[in-house]
Amino acid sequence: MCGIIGYLGNKDAYPILMKGLHRLEYRGYDSAGIALLQSDKINIYKCQGKVCELEKYCEDKNLSGITGIAHTRWATHGEPNDVNAHPHFSSDGRTALIHNGIIENYQALKTELINRGYVFQSDTDTEVLIHLIEDIKKVGNNELPEAVRLALSQVVGTYAIIVMSVDDPNTLVVARKGSPLIIGFGQNEYYIASDGSALVEYTDKVVYLKNEEMAVLTKGDDIRIKTIKNKNRPHYIEKLEMTLSELEKGGYEHFMLKEIFEQPRSVADSMRGRLNSVKEIVALGGIVEYEEHLLRARRIIIVACGTSYHAGLVAEYMFEDLIRIPVEVEYASEFRYRNPIIYSDDVVIAISQSGETADTLAAIELARQKGATVLGICNVVGSSIARATHAGSYTHAGPEIGVASTKAFTAQVTVLTLMALCMAKRKGKISKTRYATIINELESIPRKIKTILDSNDLMKEIAAYMKQFNNALYLGRNYNYPVALEGALKLKEISYIHAEGYPAAEMKHGPIALIDEDMPVVVIATTNGTYDKVVSNIQEVKTRKGKIISIVTQGDTDVRNLSDYVIEIPETEEMLVPLLATVPLQLLAYHVAVMRGRNVDQPRNLAKSVTVE
Ligand code: GLU
Repeated sequence: MCGIIGYLGNKDAYPILMKGLHRLEYRGYDSAGIALLQSDKINIYKCQGKVCELEKYCEDKNLSGITGIAHTRWATHGEPNDVNAHPHFSSDGRTALIHNGIIENYQALKTELINRGYVFQSDTDTEVLIHLIEDIKKVGNNELPEAVRLALSQVVGTYAIIVMSVDDPNTLVVARKGSPLIIGFGQNEYYIASDGSALVEYTDKVVYLKNEEMAVLTKGDDIRIKTIKNKNRPHYIEKLEMTLSELEKGGYEHFMLKEIFEQPRSVADSMRGRLNSVKEIVALGGIVEYEEHLLRARRIIIVACGTSYHAGLVAEYMFEDLIRIPVEVEYASEFRYRNPIIYSDDVVIAISQSGETADTLAAIELARQKGATVLGICNVVGSSIARATHAGSYTHAGPEIGVASTKAFTAQVTVLTLMALCMAKRKGKISKTRYATIINELESIPRKIKTILDSNDLMKEIAAYMKQFNNALYLGRNYNYPVALEGALKLKEISYIHAEGYPAAEMKHGPIALIDEDMPVVVIATTNGTYDKVVSNIQEVKTRKGKIISIVTQGDTDVRNLSDYVIEIPETEEMLVPLLATVPLQLLAYHVAVMRGRNVDQPRNLAKSVTVE
């Protein structure tokens, strides 16, 4: 993962880089570092820990300089310590580099470089790259850009890099494959970053570097882009669609809480212009040209990871119910490595908040090679997945900064619901009344989420009870099964309480052995087709002294009587329940984590945008 940022211009680079690092910290926070070009010398300041540690470390240093690069790391190779922190130097100290990604063939390259006399300071895969560049530069008497290009053509793996050198003080060389990179244009200056958040206050004119492209940025000169294979490429300046206020906490204690509370707005935004309940129209402009492919699809395969995978599971139930096309949902990481059968008349839907998830990107590539139509659902405009797919729909949830995904999930489910409705109508698989009912219900979801958010105090009370336990079980059936998975994932990732989600009836096949008075069981027991069955499952837990926290439909009495704590949600269509039932579970996880003193927005070992496999 990692966040990278670079500046080349006439202003003081340090404050720009430092601010950028704070913005990109969600991408990784094992260590941070800055390299500044200071009177014919590159100086590197780096240390283990978060960006604020680096800031402290830098306090008494001379930080002048108008050219610099900076990095916040999520370690893949080599433990998170000072030495392994980026930037990394060439042996002669004249060139420095930052890298996001993994050099897969680093061992072979390292052995060769060691044989050629290079001494390695760190345990990272990245350091191989800087020595390789240095070697190619010296041996072939190459200019820096050409040395970078030749080095990258030897590399297997993924990268977004920025290279600076004292020998070329007015130039930065950047390149990407797999990991994202965006270049911003200022007044005779360049800003480079992993995403737009680090440059939004300076410019809205950007170029999204494409896969396997590199750019040479020279002060006072036009940008030059070419492929790693040495083909010149034109560049298109686009407008960065992002505002500063979207990136701030807006009075909330954490980004995660802000993002949970944003859901009435973000769900409405993901429907805006796509749903008209009066005219009973559902339209997803982004995929219009591929609707026929969907209608004719032999099968729909959904590939995703983490929370997006759970949104995919909701879609599986919905698509099969409404469109009657078989759906498979797969973890992208499994799909890409198991030689899957993909037909040319399959439609693959890839879901990813960041649009940069490495495994999902690889799954897309595989599906395209096999001739399938690939649609994307992601949140970040201009992201790699948005570009790698044939077509797709953005979720329009706005930037999600908290590492634990919340509003992205509800926005994904909303877009998938629109897609299902749109297809069901065209396929003639849905009655007019049912179609109209679902549309009307969908439109009321933002308002209903709002009423759930009003029970925040109740969620705090339940969290105060829940925080004492070390394990938890989440149960749900049918559409509520993915909700159980998502609820459990939220709790474990931010509170570090071990939690498992299960289909309620599966409990009897194993997990029931875990139930005793120390096992809180969260059951999503809304009134739908399997309600009675779920009531029986709750009885089974009670009999074994398990504690029941239930999510029920407003007015429910049966489950209430069996529960230790009850959360009511407004009544809605069964397939839309995940849009409501997930919200209290997000709040529950949030408050438990806060009460346990966890770093909610940046949980340990995690990062927001998983750009490594
Ligand atoms: N592989 C590099 C390292 O471990 C960069 C990691 C990343 O991009 O996440 O330092």
